[in-house]
Amino acid sequence: MNISEAQILVDRNGDILTQAGNKIAINHSGIWLPSLGFQNMESQILAMFLDKDRQLWFGTEGTGAYRLLGWRIWENFNEENLKTPGNIWQIIPINNDFSLLFSDNGMLSIGKGRSVTLYDRSVNYIGTIDQNHRIWRVINENELENFILDKENNILNRRSYNTSNIISLSLGRLADNTEVIWLATQNGLFFLPCDAPSGETPHQVMGDDGKPLLHLYTLMRDNDGSIWLMKRGELLHRHIDGSYVKVVSKWPVDSFVPITMTRRGDNEIWVGGAGGGVMRLSLDGDHLLSLKQFTEPDILSSSVASILVDRRQWVWVGTDRGISVFDGQRWVSQNTNDGLIWNDISQDGLAEGVDGTIWISTSRGVSHLLKPESVFQHQTLRPVFSEVRLGNKLLPEQAVDFSRQPLTVRFGILNFAAQANVHFRYRLEDVDSAWADTASGEVRYAYVPPGQHNLTVQAYDTMRGDQSEPISLLIRMKYPWWQWWTAYIAYGLTIVTCFYAVMRFRFRYLTRRQAILKELVEQRTKEMRAAQQALEVQAQQDGLTGLLNRRTIEANLSRLLARMRDQTRSGLSGTNVTAILMDIDYFKSINDEFGHLVGDEVLIEVSARLQKAVRLEDFVGRYGGEEFLITVSISGSEMRERIQEIMRKLTDLPISTRKGELAVRCSMGVAEAGTNEDWQSLIDRADQALYQAKAAGRNRIVFSELAPNGADYPG
Ligand code: GH3
Ligand code: MG
Ligand code: MG
Repeated sequence: MNISEAQILVDRNGDILTQAGNKIAINHSGIWLPSLGFQNMESQILAMFLDKDRQLWFGTEGTGAYRLLGWRIWENFNEENLKTPGNIWQIIPINNDFSLLFSDNGMLSIGKGRSVTLYDRSVNYIGTIDQNHRIWRVINENELENFILDKENNILNRRSYNTSNIISLSLGRLADNTEVIWLATQNGLFFLPCDAPSGETPHQVMGDDGKPLLHLYTLMRDNDGSIWLMKRGELLHRHIDGSYVKVVSKWPVDSFVPITMTRRGDNEIWVGGAGGGVMRLSLDGDHLLSLKQFTEPDILSSSVASILVDRRQWVWVGTDRGISVFDGQRWVSQNTNDGLIWNDISQDGLAEGVDGTIWISTSRGVSHLLKPESVFQHQTLRPVFSEVRLGNKLLPEQAVDFSRQPLTVRFGILNFAAQANVHFRYRLEDVDSAWADTASGEVRYAYVPPGQHNLTVQAYDTMRGDQSEPISLLIRMKYPWWQWWTAYIAYGLTIVTCFYAVMRFRFRYLTRRQAILKELVEQRTKEMRAAQQALEVQAQQDGLTGLLNRRTIEANLSRLLARMRDQTRSGLSGTNVTAILMDIDYFKSINDEFGHLVGDEVLIEVSARLQKAVRLEDFVGRYGGEEFLITVSISGSEMRERIQEIMRKLTDLPISTRKGELAVRCSMGVAEAGTNEDWQSLIDRADQALYQAKAAGRNRIVFSELAPNGADYPG
């Protein structure tokens, strides 16, 4: 062999493996087994290793990695190994190292070191081995022969018999203890003694109605040498003495076509067929106690072609989808995912080796289950998460920002031996209402709500029923900003702020209103004060001339006199008070001549001139119609000069009116206040002086002379 890279592995059984070109060379107990290769794999094997689950991996040159299923659990022989194409039917294990195989392309053997020998190219469906180690086989359905094999497995002592249309054959025993081979044919039931010489014609046996037993499907030897016959629709037990008992006359499923049967212990017969799976018949002798049917999902398919009960009392069922095995408690199944070469099991294609291994023939080669106990071994299923993505982003362990991207999670198991049959149950908290199932190990969620969600995953083996502990993954998605607690605080603050703003606005509005009201009140007060002041002024003034009115000028005069008295009393040389009564001469004639309005104009102008003529401390008042009272706070000659000056200022210039300029004259009566003189007395004296001025011809000043006794004054 061509050792390419010289990598050498020793597996747990002590087998030595190495690469040999595009194959693996295996040395088992010093013997080189046939090189192991993959169909259609031309590339060189460069590397290999055994994983912890004892799966054998190869790295190749340019074609990637390969994995061999069921390394050292299964041993497979394909058409290439077996040197013959087509179905392998029955297998007869002869000893630990040698098994005979019947195929529709000849009889062959698998011998020591897994060497394959092809004996001939005939069509062989069925065969068996008798107590004398004679091997019986049917060739081309019509020829029956037997032979023995010598130590080198050469065919010796060949005997052949003429029969036709053989359907099934089985060993058995007659009442006289003769060992016979029973033949179910299309023409009925026949037997032939096992030691019959070549050419002997098989002997026909009739049914209990004396007629040939037609429509036989299969037959089976019982422990006591009697045989069971499967006829269409019924199961018969033919005892050694030739009597028949009909044990089943109707199957629970009309479509059921029995193909194969086998005994399990003293009380059970198992029948397999098409269209009904497997029937377990519980018997008390020939009495049927109960019948139980097994179909999917206990077994892989209801189309059963082969049943085997092994030394462990396990029931092996070959279907068109792999094998199912029953240990009395539970069913497990195996198919190509576990290392079986092909899923379509041949009719009567199950056999137990001398060493307890199981041979399985299929339409595409032979599998040899080296470790039958492995089928019931629990697989360690440890699921793992391999990838978690949100949209295109791989998820870190910490919480991620809120997103409406879809969530994709991948998970798987690390046990490659169980991988193919594993499904997953999964559930995402708050999203999945119930457990969901996937075989692919990839799940997708269109939308994940914010918050913390546990994704729980549990792996289970559909073929063995094993299940893993659940694993879980915490997906943490942040809440969107509008759902953060800070946002809620902001909402709160906004509400408070709005409330505050409204309150403040309201407060300001009220304050402003108050201010406006205050201003209004102030304005009104001011107006009222002004009005009051105006009223006061009005009360003191004369409406036409703006001079003090009579009441006020009298009061002022009275005050001046009182002050003068006070000053005199306190010994001061007090200010003197002089009262002047002035009256416009012939005023009535102005009125008469020019009208009242002109009269008013004259009064106004006279008043204005009076005001200008007096000093600040002097008072001027309108005493009557065209009569004025003036007070001056001087006396003597100074006073006289002042009054004459006033007179001049009043009359020097004509008064301009709407009716032209008018010359105005006036008369004055002057009285200087005497000590302790009251204002009435003073005015009275001034009035008398005025009267005198009028009487004397007007346009003059008359001074009243105060007589100490109040007597008359000279004019
Ligand atoms: P005498 O020289 O003696 O003082 O003569 P007189 O015309 O000035 O005096 P008399 O008392 O006869 O007339 C005063 C007139 O003054 C009578 C009145 O109609 C007029 N008079 C009084 N008050 C007013 C006023 O407010 N306006 C006007 N236009 N006339 C007034
Ligand atoms: Mg007058
Ligand atoms: Mg007058």
